[in-house]
Amino acid sequence: MTHYPHLLAPLDLGFTTLPNRVLMGSMHTGLEERGDWNRVAEFYATRARGGVGLMVTGGMAPNAEGGVFPGAAGLFTPEDIRNHRVVTDRVHAAGGRIAMQILHAGRYAYGKECVSASAVKSPISPFVPRELDEAGIEKQIADIATAAARAREAGYDGVEVMGSEGYFLNQFLVSHVNRREDRWGGSVENRQRLPVEVVKRVREAAGRDFILIYRISLMDLVPDGQSFDEVVQLAGKIESAGASILNTGIGWHEARIPTIATSVPRAGFAWVTKKLMGHVSIPVITSNRINTPGVAEQVLAEGCADMVSMARPFLADPDFVAKAAAGKAGEIAPCIACNQACLDHTFSGKLTSCLVNPRACNETELTYPPAKVVKSLAVVGAGPAGLSAALVAAGRGHKVTLFDRDERIGGQLNMAREIPGKEEFHGLISWYETMVARGGIDLRLGREATVDMLGGFDEVIVATGVAPRDPGIAGEDAPNVLGYIDVLRGKAAVGKRVAVVGAGGIGFDVAEYLVHEGTSPTEDAALWRREWGVTDPEQARGGLAPEGPRPEAPAREVTLLQRKAEKPGKRLGKTTGWIHRATLQAKGVKMLGGVSYERITPEGLWIARDGVAELVACDTVVLCAGQEPARGLADRLATAGIAAHVIGGADVAAELDAKRAIDQGARLAAGL
Ligand code: NAP
Ligand code: SF4
Repeated sequence: MTHYPHLLAPLDLGFTTLPNRVLMGSMHTGLEERGDWNRVAEFYATRARGGVGLMVTGGMAPNAEGGVFPGAAGLFTPEDIRNHRVVTDRVHAAGGRIAMQILHAGRYAYGKECVSASAVKSPISPFVPRELDEAGIEKQIADIATAAARAREAGYDGVEVMGSEGYFLNQFLVSHVNRREDRWGGSVENRQRLPVEVVKRVREAAGRDFILIYRISLMDLVPDGQSFDEVVQLAGKIESAGASILNTGIGWHEARIPTIATSVPRAGFAWVTKKLMGHVSIPVITSNRINTPGVAEQVLAEGCADMVSMARPFLADPDFVAKAAAGKAGEIAPCIACNQACLDHTFSGKLTSCLVNPRACNETELTYPPAKVVKSLAVVGAGPAGLSAALVAAGRGHKVTLFDRDERIGGQLNMAREIPGKEEFHGLISWYETMVARGGIDLRLGREATVDMLGGFDEVIVATGVAPRDPGIAGEDAPNVLGYIDVLRGKAAVGKRVAVVGAGGIGFDVAEYLVHEGTSPTEDAALWRREWGVTDPEQARGGLAPEGPRPEAPAREVTLLQRKAEKPGKRLGKTTGWIHRATLQAKGVKMLGGVSYERITPEGLWIARDGVAELVACDTVVLCAGQEPARGLADRLATAGIAAHVIGGADVAAELDAKRAIDQGARLAAGL
């Protein structure tokens, strides 16, 4: 008897049956644009082998003006169709099904040629779109329909028409962007004409026995968004126009409310999908922050949807479904929704991968073959770098001994998990615990590894991490000054007024930790909705609460400081930095850049700005001034003539994050 009877139940679409209720949602990987079609095929085939019911590709442009960026991939030439055939053939040989997403970006297209309903610029784009005339609209519809016909020719099992997240079709639906007065604008019916016409024409072009998913925006989360009545009305029309499945989307890209970041509660929007259930007779899919089979099962069991879409969890673990079906959910590498190696990469023009799984999108480049010669390996430090190296090495058959002076594994991940909004780190550490135990690794905790203990191993890997940087501020030894480690480990009492020295990733984390008290909004969906101003879309257009965000009062008065004369938080994650800044602003945190530190006294922290001295009056100063490599052991080994591989923060502390540490550990162990 499976633990996931709803999730693993087949779904009959009439002309075909999906083996389970799991959709791998669309993700832009960047692979198609690189032109290595074997690599693209292996990315999808790996996930097909892992048992997912249906996959959707990254968005393919229907034409040049609709591409997310210049040169975005699409099915434009016979050669493109042949290339995509490589992918669909490989997926089918692996027993999978795959639909191609057709993504017309409208005014989100990064280029001067972008088009939309009206010439209304998006706040997240530098380009004013060209308002389409009647012939222009017909061209867009025809191009989308042609893309669907070509997808069929390329062997896809279906297409997904992207109609949410504020893209082209979504833009026509709201008066916020659609200011037209012709038959494509004005009344609700006119605004809805384009998506409905597109679905009709796609169905005609692709034929009946072809999966047609329409991704509908349930809650726009922008001013003047759709009313829920309009959404329900559109859903009915899309069904009549020929869609086989309705996938759902939440929030436009320009919305100032997080929808998929780690601080969003798990399955935090499934309740909105539930509101659509019963209004259409085709299957409805829910998505956003669903990352374990347990959460997915619960969402389905509660009747929120017929199927669950997960995207990033399939970067973290391609075998998500197979492991769930085999009763091994604890072995599923969890997506922690950090965006660090996926969306942050996409928006920096880099290939997508995954912090937890460096093999994602590198399936043909980074492999873990069985070791030709089995070696004894010592790994010192059970933080992200050491854990990654130990697991990959053990997986390849090496005999691994893993040392850490702490009583538990995880290293700095143990601090991250204390931050409100970063609860997913608990799951990541649990996964490491499970895998270390399962991998037959000899784990030695609670004792410092010495040079003497390491002499007999074939290979030694030093992953001893980092030590806090001493900023050398006069008066920093006083009792009103604390280090971030003591604060985050709950070992030190922090006063009501706090100055945080250093506004990097840890300074921000510490500030968030100090301003929150009680339940984390991430663990309490109603609290989270209040904090961000989200309401029932039946009560207010687009789901924006008329009263706006209403965060809890801050637990402390915090000032966050840095020496650089730039906006604090500028260097945080590309897709998540704004969330951290907004959270702290909502809690009244004062952020000061361009300061120099003078001295600490019982009154607080003396700084200078523009040459003028001032006191940041506070009870406690917390030092978050960056980190230095902890290389003591590496140096002692070198002195003793024992060769060692040094990885993670012990190697380079600057700009260290778990992504680099895990990647470096895995790549080293892949080659030993
Ligand atoms: P960091 O990001 O390098 O920030 C260090 C901070 O300390 C900066 O604000 C820096 O700003 C300041 N600083 C540096 N030298 C100083 C000195 N001598 N005196 C006073 N201030 C000094 O390092 P971190 O905050 O320790 O974070 C470590 C790593 O963990 C980061 O690279 C980060 O990527 C990662 N992390 C990431 C996240 C995340 O959300 N993705 C969260 C936590 C940690 P000024 O030099 O301008 O004063
Ligand atoms: Fe999930 Fe982070 Fe991996 Fe992206 S990088 S898939 S958000 S764990």
